[in-house]
Amino acid sequence: MQMPNDNYTGLRMTDLIDPFGRSVSYLRVSVTDRCNYRCVYCMSENMTFLPKNDLLSLEELERICGAFIRRGVKKLRLTGGEPLVRRNVINLIRNLGSFLDTGDLEELTLTTNGSLLAKYASDLIDCGVRRINVSLDSLKVEKFTSVTRWGKLADVLEGLEEAKKVGLEIKINAVALKGFNEDELDQMVEWCGKQGFDLTFIETMPMGEIDQQRTDQYLPLTLVREKLEQSWTLDEIDYKTGGPARYVVIKETGKRLGFITPLSHNFCEECNRVRLTCTGKLYMCLGQDDWADLKTPLRKDSTDKSIMCAIDEAIGRKPKGHDFIIDRTQTGAAVERHMSVTGG
Ligand code: SAM
Repeated sequence: MQMPNDNYTGLRMTDLIDPFGRSVSYLRVSVTDRCNYRCVYCMSENMTFLPKNDLLSLEELERICGAFIRRGVKKLRLTGGEPLVRRNVINLIRNLGSFLDTGDLEELTLTTNGSLLAKYASDLIDCGVRRINVSLDSLKVEKFTSVTRWGKLADVLEGLEEAKKVGLEIKINAVALKGFNEDELDQMVEWCGKQGFDLTFIETMPMGEIDQQRTDQYLPLTLVREKLEQSWTLDEIDYKTGGPARYVVIKETGKRLGFITPLSHNFCEECNRVRLTCTGKLYMCLGQDDWADLKTPLRKDSTDKSIMCAIDEAIGRKPKGHDFIIDRTQTGAAVERHMSVTGG
């Protein structure tokens, strides 16, 4: 592993390379574990959230992000929980946006359920955000409420309208769920085409205990793709966003369609990311329990020397990959934490 070549005083240092030679250039930051929705595959209805006192302040989150940027991270994604429910999150986004102005960061983006976009879309554009991912699993009012437990589709549609109006590029993320939205997937492709949105389907991942059996929800995207191919022409393309999705272009709509397949095809060989939680835990793999504490070194010294050492140590044990399984013999969670802890 390469070691940083200065005494952590603020000069640009060596990039982060893991033991498998993969360069870590992408940090996802869960700014809160709280959410205004309770999606059935993501959370149980009665979630216990982290005590507010355990959370890093927005300034501390910014300091950790800054440390990663100095180590070559080029892309930051804020997620959650729902990132836009964290009080004053726009201040953090604005400060992180200044790294775009200097060219140290190439992209600042977020994943949101869209419910608060009507309020925040123009702030996001002002802060330098250009693309966002919006999670939306059904276009049917009742189904949407049943999957989110508490959500209103109208809020998300209004948010999307506003986001479009201010010029944000939008990708819709939909978790493909057996017996739930599998009959709507064609309609979603068509709707996204009309709206000018890219779309990505995601396989449900066994993260955290929920109130249902994962096997009842799991819909392999190999089947989804076969079904879509009966109605649409899927043209292979070599488009990469630095994420795990494999993309095609839908010839009839001209929009991209991505497939994220952590179960039917794992994508770890190209993994370029690590994930920070709102309490300062760094997860080196979404599908493993190992984490590194960045909060203690962050608070220990103000020069960032300790945090840089902790980051090096963590990247030095980034695992080769995850091994999610959902089958009849292994129906429990592969990792204990919910997706809302580390963000999607
Ligand atoms: N609240 C934001 C949102 O709704 O996009 C960000 C956090 S949410 C945890 C991020 C993404 O993870 C969403 O697209 C959600 O559908 C997805 N997700 C949550 N739990 C999942 C699971 N068990 N398997 C697959 N995707 C999951």
